[in-house]
Amino acid sequence: MSNRPERIWTNVNLATLDADVGEPYGARIDCAVGVRDGRIVAVAPMEDIAILPSSTEVIDGEGGWLTPGLIDAHTHLVFAGNRAREFELRLQGVGYEEIARQGGGILSTVKATRAAGVEELVELARPRLEALLREGVTGVEIKSGYGLDLESELNMLRAARALGERYPVRVSTSLLAAHALPPEFEGEPDAYIDRVCDEIIPAAVAEGLADAVDVFCETIAFSPAQCERVFQAAQAHGLGIRAHVEQLSNQHGAELAARYGAWSVDHLEWLDEAGIEAMAQAGTVATLLPGAFYFLHETRVPPIDLLRRHRVPMAVATDLNPGSSPLASLRLAMNMACTLFRLTPEEALAGVTRHAARALGQGRELGQIKVGMHADMVLWDIEHPAELAYQFGVNPIKQRIIGGRIVGKEVRNV
Ligand SMILES: [Zn+2]
Repeated sequence: MSNRPERIWTNVNLATLDADVGEPYGARIDCAVGVRDGRIVAVAPMEDIAILPSSTEVIDGEGGWLTPGLIDAHTHLVFAGNRAREFELRLQGVGYEEIARQGGGILSTVKATRAAGVEELVELARPRLEALLREGVTGVEIKSGYGLDLESELNMLRAARALGERYPVRVSTSLLAAHALPPEFEGEPDAYIDRVCDEIIPAAVAEGLADAVDVFCETIAFSPAQCERVFQAAQAHGLGIRAHVEQLSNQHGAELAARYGAWSVDHLEWLDEAGIEAMAQAGTVATLLPGAFYFLHETRVPPIDLLRRHRVPMAVATDLNPGSSPLASLRLAMNMACTLFRLTPEEALAGVTRHAARALGQGRELGQIKVGMHADMVLWDIEHPAELAYQFGVNPIKQRIIGGRIVGKEVRNV
């Protein structure tokens, strides 16, 4: 294989996020990036660019900044139904039970999702996915978890895969059948976990629909022992492991998931040091979800300083979902991670690139501008990479690049 670039971006500043560069953001000023066969094959200062063969396509970056493509490592963006009325009722002072009686809550999303076919789920997800792509997302994780029966869970994952085929974006899927107890299993959570392990996981694997499993480990969802059974089934089928843990209480789910080599544990407001030590040892990423913290008006912040001290990589994601984080902006999630959790803008950018890739088990292939990696990048019209976490509501994107090709005009709202 030749390393001669087929396409080259010139006159760009780079936030490589490559730790080996030894500068904040892995920054390199006034550079060129060459790509070939979808991969980055050259990163060099402009003054080192030799005369290029005429077959090389040259794209002038005009002094903009190139970053790795943004990756939203935690979303529930495939679902049916609408919870805006429930939001309104809650703010009018109507209690949780009354809302549930009127058909609100997660089970309303389950009911609507079960009633929708794959095509309807795809159509409903389009605007949410397009909003993410417009802001520079090149990779997105999408979970099931509103079907809670075999066919509906598979349909959600089929819709997620279809979105990955119809849009220029890398979709990673997580089977979150252990999200909530379906009404038909009321009082029998262990029987439902049997169903998840014995039927739903094998069926999703047989159809190639899941890259990982996910669970909701919480007093209002599933116990650590029940989650452990899901992890064991995932391991037996060669799937990655992720978990919603320590969001509302400390169930020691992070420690448990880390023992099973989890790629990522997510939320983490109630995480303790024992959990952090287990994560550090296992190389598990801490995925922070400030959108849910914000929307639920939480007050307990994840233990950011302890995570830093133990050098646990921190990802940042939207948690885009209808109930607790109707947030379709990864850049706003970056800003919230800074304002609400006190991450630095550099940590926030690493959280949606290098560490987000690792949370999806793809850290060797994605998330940095580095020779050998997939050429997924974004060209921004900014003066400094801190702007990406600083300002929101303004979109300074110039180009979205996947596998070395400029993509995304089809989702541009002109
Ligand atoms: Zn979630």
